[in-house]
Amino acid sequence: MLATLPLLEVSDFPSIRREKTSTLQVNLGYRCNLSCLHCHVAAGPNRTEMMLAEHIDLVIDVLKARNIGTLDLTGGAPELHENFRELVTKARALGVTVIDRCNLTILFEPGQETLAEFLAEQEVEIVASLPCYSLENVDKQRGKGTFDASIEGLKKLNSLGYGMPGSALKLNLVYNPQGPSLPPNQVALEADYKRELKQHFDIEFNQLFALANMPIQRFGSMLISKGQFDGYMDLLKANYDEANLAGLMCRSLISVDWQGNLYDCDFNQQLNVALANEKPSHLRDLLTKDLDGKPVYVADHCYGCTAGQGSSCGGAL
Ligand code: SF4
Ligand code: SF4
Repeated sequence: MLATLPLLEVSDFPSIRREKTSTLQVNLGYRCNLSCLHCHVAAGPNRTEMMLAEHIDLVIDVLKARNIGTLDLTGGAPELHENFRELVTKARALGVTVIDRCNLTILFEPGQETLAEFLAEQEVEIVASLPCYSLENVDKQRGKGTFDASIEGLKKLNSLGYGMPGSALKLNLVYNPQGPSLPPNQVALEADYKRELKQHFDIEFNQLFALANMPIQRFGSMLISKGQFDGYMDLLKANYDEANLAGLMCRSLISVDWQGNLYDCDFNQQLNVALANEKPSHLRDLLTKDLDGKPVYVADHCYGCTAGQGSSCGGAL
């Protein structure tokens, strides 16, 4: 894979400082039942990197110590971590909102037969990637049979109340464009998704997040190899909207990798760029210190968060 960081480091992106942390986004490990072509972390069934149980305990301690209101779980498939349900139950008992970045097909994996019911009982919010509402595009990105399994997953979640009118159980979907273009208008695309999924599959959901692809990892490498990197960066910069700076997730979110190391956001984690202020750098440091007011590490990839409508819901999906 071609490295994108050297092309991003010299940047005129405005400096940003952190505010109070409201979300801890934790990557529980790289094991996944799928092996999607676009996966940021090259997750798959044979990956063995999983968060240690002692670090899972630290997550709960940090939520308490820093009074953080939202725990956002990602991976891999976070549900495959053997301590997933224990972590969710403990966080919910603290009154913390828990988000599960769910690939939908995991609901039908052996051993996960009661997962959907567990998530509903615990009122876990679900964020699921559905890059298109057509079979062909989804199977191309995520593997054969993924679209049908995703549709079955959405139906199962709807049957439990997820995404249904008047229900407290939230089901949100995420869309990324397939190539080097900006996503279409989020409101219009959400309306298309709602109409198509209702009409063809009788599926309901709450919100659609339409996010730009970041010029890093596999997508960035693909842009370089096709000679499209500079053109894509020009597109992101031409669509820079200062109004998006206020809502950047790096102001209020701390991203944690499977080893407990801290980053300003999931994208910086994927680029392996440490926090700009260096310390605290590990979950255990957050027991006694916070990051409020510290500078964020920014580079040219940050233009992916400020182009057009902005990206407010990042993370591996
Ligand atoms: S993109 Fe998501 S579902 Fe696909 S392999 Fe990566 S973690 Fe798994
Ligand atoms: S990539 Fe986005 S979220 Fe991450 S530091 Fe840059 S602006 Fe913030």
